[in-house]
Amino acid sequence: MGCGGSTQGSDNQWMIKLGKKGVICYLFREFYKLGWCTGSGGAISIREDENTVWINPSGVMKELVEEHDIILMNLKGEIVVPSKTTGLRRSECTPNFLQVYGLREGVGSVIHTHSMNAVMVAQLFGTEFQCIDLQLIKGMIGHKNTDWCVVPIIENSEYDTGLTENIKRAIMDYPRSQAVLVRNHGVFVWGPTWEKAKIQLECYEYIFKVVLRMHKYNLEIPKLPSCDKNVKCWILDEDKKSEDIRKDQQHKLAEWVTESTLKQYNVTLEILNSENMEEILKEKGLILKEELILASNIDNYDEIRNKLTIERKLESQEIYYIYSGTGYFDIKNDGGKWMRIHVGKGELITLMEGVVIRFSPDIMNCITFKKF
Ligand code: ZN
Repeated sequence: MGCGGSTQGSDNQWMIKLGKKGVICYLFREFYKLGWCTGSGGAISIREDENTVWINPSGVMKELVEEHDIILMNLKGEIVVPSKTTGLRRSECTPNFLQVYGLREGVGSVIHTHSMNAVMVAQLFGTEFQCIDLQLIKGMIGHKNTDWCVVPIIENSEYDTGLTENIKRAIMDYPRSQAVLVRNHGVFVWGPTWEKAKIQLECYEYIFKVVLRMHKYNLEIPKLPSCDKNVKCWILDEDKKSEDIRKDQQHKLAEWVTESTLKQYNVTLEILNSENMEEILKEKGLILKEELILASNIDNYDEIRNKLTIERKLESQEIYYIYSGTGYFDIKNDGGKWMRIHVGKGELITLMEGVVIRFSPDIMNCITFKKF
């Protein structure tokens, strides 16, 4: 047994006795006692095989869920084995869970809770929860206790289905995180087995609690320089290969670039409300010049990639609206170094005449722009 974060594997005797549906019922009762699944909130899913997952029904008191209530779904979202209790529908969380299974390799279980600590801790941070130097960070897959534990925070929506797009982006943007916090709502946590998902959930809960206590006692909460920034921009250090700041943990070493520095270089970044996007663009008097798609599966990928990634000095103003996906705009500073801006859906970047730029795809290698 290690010092935190150990698991005994999924095939222990106890697990065989209980079965996957039994485990879901057991976890709900335990989480209910902890206040993580009160008011019929929360959801749990465990993978059955390559194509199917068990998931709890919607709108039932979670501490009373029984094995015959639980639904088997395939990853396309179709019901394979319905609930044996009439009138029970699949959990509202289903699209969010299926997305985690689809986007992350080797996920065997996803858990969603409404714990008080998850709700409260998100109040202390902007777009990322951050913490370092706690023993239980070791409980997170791929982390040492001295690593930064960074969890993306997304905004809540009226229905759970409204979270799907933002959860997708958070999963893609934070490949090291095994969780997503939803502000004023709760947390999603996953792992390769239900045991590992449970252990990670408990480690996150503990860490959230410690950070809340630190705040209560006015202790300084360590934060990365990237914390609470709308603009994610840093000096690209080609020697340290800090290409993707979140992927290779260069947070500590990064030289961050502020919004006002970017302004000095005639670069501005705005986050638009994507629901009224067409209207906003019209109000700004922008005229569409070109629509560009860069994705590994398009026919003329090399041609588009070469066109975008070549270094060039702008002869006139160029404005880009990111319609979907993510990527980097690199801006050359006076010292000849690249200032790397991570852009994503709903962002509008304005580059004035004379700016030296190039575009670089990120790990997702998928972006659609509108150029004005
Ligand atoms: Zn929920």
